[in-house]
Formats: sequence, C-alpha cells, structure tokens
Amino acid sequence: MVDSRCNVIVIGAGVVGLGVALEITRRYPHLKLLVLEKEDKVARHASGHNSGVIHSGVYYKPGSLKARLCVSGAAAMVEFCRTHNIPHNVCGKVIVAKSAEELPALEELHRRGHANGLMGLRMVGPEELREIEPYACGIKALVVPSTGITDYVQVCEKYAQLISARGGAVLTSAVVKGIRNSPNEIVLETSRGAFSASALINCAGLYSDRICRMAGDNPGVMIIPFRGEYYDLVPERASLVRTLIYPVPDPRFPFLGVHFTRRVNGRVDAGPNAVFALAREGYRHSDINLLDLASSLSYSGFWGMARRHWRNGLEEWHRSLSKPAFVRALQALLPEITADDLVPGGSGVRAQAVKPDGTLVDDFHFSLSGKRLHVLNVPSPAATASIAIGKAIVDAASAFLVDDLVLANGG
Ligand SMILES: Cc1cc2nc3c(=O)[nH]c(=O)nc-3n(C[C@H](O)[C@H](O)[C@H](O)COP(=O)(O)OP(=O)(O)OC[C@H]3O[C@@H](n4cnc5c(N)ncnc54)[C@H](O)[C@@H]3O)c2cc1C
Repeated sequence: MVDSRCNVIVIGAGVVGLGVALEITRRYPHLKLLVLEKEDKVARHASGHNSGVIHSGVYYKPGSLKARLCVSGAAAMVEFCRTHNIPHNVCGKVIVAKSAEELPALEELHRRGHANGLMGLRMVGPEELREIEPYACGIKALVVPSTGITDYVQVCEKYAQLISARGGAVLTSAVVKGIRNSPNEIVLETSRGAFSASALINCAGLYSDRICRMAGDNPGVMIIPFRGEYYDLVPERASLVRTLIYPVPDPRFPFLGVHFTRRVNGRVDAGPNAVFALAREGYRHSDINLLDLASSLSYSGFWGMARRHWRNGLEEWHRSLSKPAFVRALQALLPEITADDLVPGGSGVRAQAVKPDGTLVDDFHFSLSGKRLHVLNVPSPAATASIAIGKAIVDAASAFLVDDLVLANGG
C-alpha cells in the first residue's frame, strides 16, 4: 500500500528520475519518497531505448555540467555495474576522421578530453587504427580507452530495487494528470489517485516541459522529439566491429552521427540517426500525434531551429527513408559494410530542449521554483551520468529537502 502523503515525489522512472530517487534514499533515508511512473515498468522510454554506452566525457565543453557529471558519472556507473553484477565492459572506442577537413574537430576532441581529465587518450594513424578495428577506415583516429558499454534497463531495474529496499516506493501505471499547489503542499492527480508532497522533482523526459507548466511554472524551453533509428548487423557480420566506431561529430549539432556499437549481449548495431519525430513518443514513422505536432510547429523555437539546421534535418530524413543513404554514411567508417549486412533495429526518442530563438540547449538544464525542481534537458550522456546527476540534483534541492527532513523527524 503506497502512502498518499509523502515528503517528496519524483515524476518519471527513467534513469534520471531513479538516479535522483536513489540519491534521496541514500542521503535522506527518513524522507517518505514516491516515484510516479506512467508506464507499467521502469525504463520504458529513452532509458530503455538507447545505445548502452558508458560515455567517457571526451565530447563536452570543459567546465560544463555534461563534462563534469559525465566523467564522474562514468566512473560511478562502472563501479555500480561491478558491485551489482550488471553486464558491462570498458572496451574503449575510436573516433575516426575520414578526411583532412575533420582533423581540427578531432584535435579539439583530444584537447577537450585532456581538459576533462580523461586518461589514456591517443591519436593513431590508419595502420594502428586497423590493429584496433581491422575494418575501420580513416586518416586518423582518437582512441578513447575509458568508454564502456552496459545495459541501462538492468541499471534502472537495480536502481528501483534499491530504492524500494531503502523504504522508497516506485509506483508504475500512475500517469500524472494534474498538479495543484497550496501553501504547504503539492497535490498530484494521477490515474491511481491523488498523492501529495511538500517537494516535487520533475524528471518526465519527453514531457518534462508539460509537467513544468502543469505545476504552474514556466519551462522557458520546449521539448522537441528527435527519433534515433538503428539497424542491427546480421550476426554473421558482427565480427566487422570489435568495440565502438564513431565518426567525428558535426560540432554545430548535439548528436554524434551514426556509429557502430557493440552491445553487452554481443549484438552490434549501427545508428542512431536524428530525425524530427512527429510524436513525442514517436518510435516509428507512422507514429503521429497531432497535438504534439501542432505544439512543435506553433513554437517559434522550432522555426528558428529549422532555419539554422534545415540542411542537416533534410539529410537526416533522407537517411531515415532511404536505406542506401544510411548505408553510405556507415560505409564512410566501414567500407566493407553492405545493405545486406543490416536489418532494421530498434529506435529511441531524444527529448531535446529548444529555446524560443531556436537554439538547441546543449548542456544539462535544471530549473528550481520554490519546492519544485524541473529537469528540462538531460540528453546523452545522461544515462552514463545518472548517478552524478542524482547527486547534483539532490544538492540543488537539499535546502527544501532538509526542511522536510526536520519535519519528518518531528523537529
Ligand atoms: C537513441 C538514443 C541513444 C542514446 N544513447 C545513450 C548512450 O549510449 N549513453 C548515454 O549515457 N545516454 C544515451 N542516451 C541518452 C539517455 O538515454 C537519456 O538521456 C536518458 O535515458 C534520459 O533519462 P530520463 O529519465 O530523463 O528520461 P526517460 O527514460 O524518458 O524517463 C522519463 C520517464 O517519465 C515518465 N513520464 C513522462 N510523463 C509522465 C507523467 N505524466 N506521469 C508519470 N510519468 C511520466 C515516462 O514514462 C518515462 O518513463 C541516448 C538516448 C537516445 C534517445
């Protein structure tokens, strides 16, 4: 039986909401904590539809939240997987420059990686690249030994298990439909009844901006959904890829470009691309939600973004609709790959926050309003960083959580 009166409610049982809840139960074991999740299981959205990479932190601007929380979060994630016997492998990866034009961006990643404190980074030429990845092709590559892989569904299930073991509750099939604020409490109307708390942490991913508005706050951004589609390598050709092979990303865009990822289950996938999705939970081309589409298209930021990135956006759509175009992008990294080696794989939807002027929010972004904290932009590498994000958010919320702790302890 879940108590309807709590100290703190977290909305969303993805890797971020659960990471936050886990940290609350660790730091404040006496607080009554409830996680509300609309689906029937944890990790049904981005946290269960991603590449499974434990990112190293090589990409991110030194000093940014992404850089700091990814580097500390990756170490914490490897330790967490080791402690709880979750499959993982710190297998390293290569980022491959295919032409001289890509070298300055590759050098910049090398510099950022050093500045972010990564160990063992090194540049290699084509021969050494072939020793590491025999089928990869490029003029230079950055070797990143601290990158790893895991299974974030298992990570989320373990987070939820630990939260419950420490006295918190994770309630699934509980859609938050309305939020009322009164001076002393926040009441959440859900499909499983009303729950109240004195503090709220919104980790609703693709719906975080709507939940923020529902709570009476202004998110200042809109979530625009970008689907990432994968192909799987047929098992007979999985040996073309030993670990992870990435292109040099376009620095103007927050996505990494289609790449090859070996999964902990031994499968290899290729992708994800980044196409504007016609529904927030639009995992397939045929998923269209008119309300979502109308809200994206009526947002000034959507058109600002479209003006800046229309060429890239059209290329992504082309690659999405044309397998030969997708294969050509992959052949730039792995010339031996052919269309017959690839079968359609899964997909995931990124919750990308966009400002009213069309700027894509690059860094992690949280906003605090009274006793409500909204997590509004936690794209990749948020799964990697989830333990560190949990700590950062609980730090940010600690003033109001401590208030409640005094009350919970009868102070
Ligand atoms: C294609 C793809 C590949 C990626 N690859 C990687 C990677 O390799 N490594 C990495 O570190 N990161 C990766 N990421 C990023 C990472 O997966 C996400 O940043 C992370 O999962 C975000 O977690 P979350 O908890 O914020 O979101 P989610 O997992 O989407 O969780 C939000 C939850 O809120 C719930 N919710 C929403 N509205 C309501 C409501 N009204 N009531 C109750 N519950 C609600 C949803 O059902 C959902 O379960 C990738 C993402 C994608 C899409």
